[in-house]
Amino acid sequence: MTSPQNITVLGATGSIGLSTLDVIARHPDRYRAFALTGYTRLDELGALCITHEPRFAVVPGSAQAEALEHRIKAAGLSTQVLVGEAGLSEVSAHPDVDAVMAAIVGAAGLKPTLAAVEAGKKVLLANKEALVMSGSLFMQAVKTYNAKLLPIDSEHNAIFQCLPVGYEEGLVAKGVRRILLTASGGPFRETSLEVLRDVTPDQACAHPNWSMGRKISVDSATMMNKGLEFIEACWLFNARPDQVEVVVHPQSVIHSLVDYIDGSVLAQLGNPDMRTPIAHALAWPERIESGVSPLDLFAVARLDFQKPDEQRFPCLRLAREAISAGGTAPATLNAANEVAVDAFLNGRARFDEIPQIIEAVLQQETISAVTDLECVMQADRHARDSANVWLERHRR
Ligand code: NAD
Ligand code: MG
Repeated sequence: MTSPQNITVLGATGSIGLSTLDVIARHPDRYRAFALTGYTRLDELGALCITHEPRFAVVPGSAQAEALEHRIKAAGLSTQVLVGEAGLSEVSAHPDVDAVMAAIVGAAGLKPTLAAVEAGKKVLLANKEALVMSGSLFMQAVKTYNAKLLPIDSEHNAIFQCLPVGYEEGLVAKGVRRILLTASGGPFRETSLEVLRDVTPDQACAHPNWSMGRKISVDSATMMNKGLEFIEACWLFNARPDQVEVVVHPQSVIHSLVDYIDGSVLAQLGNPDMRTPIAHALAWPERIESGVSPLDLFAVARLDFQKPDEQRFPCLRLAREAISAGGTAPATLNAANEVAVDAFLNGRARFDEIPQIIEAVLQQETISAVTDLECVMQADRHARDSANVWLERHRR
């Protein structure tokens, strides 16, 4: 019998991290949690360590490390606690690791995810912001270091399942006409612009179909999530922007589709539960149980489709413009969005100001070519500064 694969879960305390640990725990013969990382909610990280007994845990600072070490010792465990960005990169690239679940939210996940890629690991990518920021560098590193990149985002996992073998060589050569990226439309799909102005963070985070972290929930409400996913799809599948179309599908049962030149359209369906793409990517090319209940088409009864409304959801347009502009523009878009969403969640910006901030930052910042990671990090820093200046100037 072969020994279980060692899995590092970056962002273990988050929504995707917990779903990953749920799938791992269903298959102790196949997978073992090798390293768990957390940034906040470290009590929960302690509890996860006691349940999963990882070899490593990573926390942001030394005070938190001391507290966690104390708890681990009291529980009689031998988990080693590492600290900060260096700790994250160490558990991503460790020679004993078989696969890394990249489930940190936002730009903070870029370096540890790249560390996993550069160590040639199997990388399960949930952290879409990392790819949006560094696009060409990231995909080049996947090639150079012979890493295996598997998408966890439900849409991209669906597209991956529907694409033909060898799609990396080019979609046209493989008979693919378009990728149809589905979007639920979020909690405000039918909400008027006047009402959108004053929606609260809790309203924005109440997604109709998916239970997720707060940042991605706000992204879903503004549809920037679909904008980021549009860029993600271009990089993952070597697609031009005009080969990707967004389709609003409120039931979130079809997770995305691939349209072929012979008129065939392949789709992947399932209940909206992230354990399906997680189990798919963990076991690929095999299939394993995920704990997700079977899809009941009679209960679903109908599937609806609409065009996205870019009047009410300008973030989609901003993301399309950023990928078309190229270079550092997607990194600028992503950083401005992170600052704007954080400001909204903390009562420092209105919901309708999120796209305004991003557009202002994109207009102000110069786009440059991406030649190395420092270009990306610099664009990220400048965009954050610029967004903060905007917030300062519009302080209520
Ligand atoms: P979450 O907020 O629930 O969890 C985020 C995790 O990242 C937590 O473990 C947190 O401790 C960690 N983290 C946050 N800031 C950090 C920092 N500065 N340094 C190190 N760690 C940090 O988020 P989530 O919903 O699990 O989403 C995680 C990622 O997966 C995001 O990029 C999101 O876009 C993507 N994703 C999520 C879903 C979903 O259903 N939740 C679906 C598709 C893609
Ligand atoms: Mg998604």
